[in-house]
Amino acid sequence: MAERETLRCQLAVIGGGAAGLMAALEATRRGLDVILLDRLDDLGGNAARAAGHAAFESVEQRNRRVSLTKEGVYQAMMELSDWNANPSLLSRFVERSAEVVDRLLELGIHYDKVIAIDPVHQLTTSHLPTGRMRAVVDVLSTELERRGVRIYRGFRAEQLEVAAGSVSAIVARNNVGAELLIQPCAALIATGGYAASPKLMRRYAGLAKTPSAGNGADTGDGLALAAMAGGHASSLIGAVLVAATTNGRPLTDDISCACVQPTLWVDGSGRRFCNEALALALYRAGDIVARLNQGFAWSIFDQSQIDKLIHSGARRGMGSAILPGTKLTKLRVQLEEDLAGGETAFRADSLEELAGLIGVELEPFINEVSQYHEACAEGVDHRFFKTHNLDPLLHPPFYALRMEATALCTTGAIEVDEFLRVLDHYGNPVGGLYAAGNDAAGPWGKTAITTIGGAPAGFALTSGLLVAEHAAGWCHRH
Ligand SMILES: Cc1cc2nc3c(=O)[nH]c(=O)nc-3n(C[C@H](O)[C@H](O)[C@H](O)COP(=O)(O)OP(=O)(O)OC[C@H]3O[C@@H](n4cnc5c(N)ncnc54)[C@H](O)[C@@H]3O)c2cc1C
Repeated sequence: MAERETLRCQLAVIGGGAAGLMAALEATRRGLDVILLDRLDDLGGNAARAAGHAAFESVEQRNRRVSLTKEGVYQAMMELSDWNANPSLLSRFVERSAEVVDRLLELGIHYDKVIAIDPVHQLTTSHLPTGRMRAVVDVLSTELERRGVRIYRGFRAEQLEVAAGSVSAIVARNNVGAELLIQPCAALIATGGYAASPKLMRRYAGLAKTPSAGNGADTGDGLALAAMAGGHASSLIGAVLVAATTNGRPLTDDISCACVQPTLWVDGSGRRFCNEALALALYRAGDIVARLNQGFAWSIFDQSQIDKLIHSGARRGMGSAILPGTKLTKLRVQLEEDLAGGETAFRADSLEELAGLIGVELEPFINEVSQYHEACAEGVDHRFFKTHNLDPLLHPPFYALRMEATALCTTGAIEVDEFLRVLDHYGNPVGGLYAAGNDAAGPWGKTAITTIGGAPAGFALTSGLLVAEHAAGWCHRH
């Protein structure tokens, strides 16, 4: 029989990523007795892979004389969400995000810079800590241990029970058969969304073939746990933050950044499919490629374009990880590795030979290149209205890099109110039950807000803080 331990606490936190760690910290500051569970041994979730987090009117922004205002961000986010965002929840996020920066500064985090990642809107929101978000999760984990939070690593929450309208028990198991029965006063679901579940990605986002760039633990457990308590998926579910990258390579590799430069792109049949300059606005390349029938595209370069990326810098960056203008000094080595692999990169002395290597039909491909060259000469492309970055392919050898979509995270899942309380089908809160981070729906509407650099991690941290504040009131009353 499995070994079972029964534990009591005031707040049980399911998931030790950005939202869970910040909630646990804030709850202990408010005097709560906290248990934190994570299905993995390593805390931090996908937050540990992130570069930066958003905040608005923080001390770091003020010190750098960033002119961005909460009001400006709020209006921009409401408009970008097509007025679908939950106005009250978004308002609370915008209002309180700067407190996260204060908490992290108190714990010794330093910020290298605050940047805008979208060249179109230029909103300077993404706070880049020294050591990036890995440093933040490490500092938070250490602080929780110092404060006596009971942390159970390798325990996956599998059941959530409700009695008399309030959360009453959580059952978690590890992979050697040990079982925890936790009886909390309040519980937070912060399991990181569902990007690693092909079934849920197909159901909610229509993207069954888009692999996750995360740690694989974001399989939608939060949705299942909420459903056991009477909660449900929000009608706003479905937004996914998708990036384009070279298959099998991390986003931060120079060759991933190279493959999304606004050169000539063709689909698996050799035809152009969009204005490649769209890629200058972060994540749009990922969205477009994810929805191509074949699920991938080819970026075509000549030698001079490759040389420019190495010696002059990238026109487009890779989020907060590679900034525009960065010289891709590792590109040559990574290109040779991928050319040797023979699947994601090809080189040829002529465009005809390149077409054969990447398996596209010769005639349509060569026609596309001729039309593209005419557009370059004229300075405008009449089909997709590309007016910038029209560079002809003149200097052999020619290269093709395979570009594929990869999901960074899903931004929205469980129906919650402005206090992050999980709502039942009648819109009533389930007593003492909260969802935060990628598990909570509402602040973005149905779109992944890609123009606000660091928005997912920023919301995860801030929503954790807000949950702790509300849960403290709940626990003191019950
Ligand atoms: C490669 C990459 C780069 C990114 N870069 C950025 C960036 O620069 N800026 C940005 O804003 N966002 C970025 N993101 C997105 C960001 O990381 C997430 O939005 C953020 O981490 C969400 O926080 P969270 O707490 O909801 O989930 P997570 O941080 O993923 O934490 C969820 C935790 O829950 C645990 N868990 C899951 N199920 C269970 C269960 N049943 N029981 C117990 N534990 C469970 C997981 O193991 C995990 O530790 C990036 C994502 C990826 C993958």
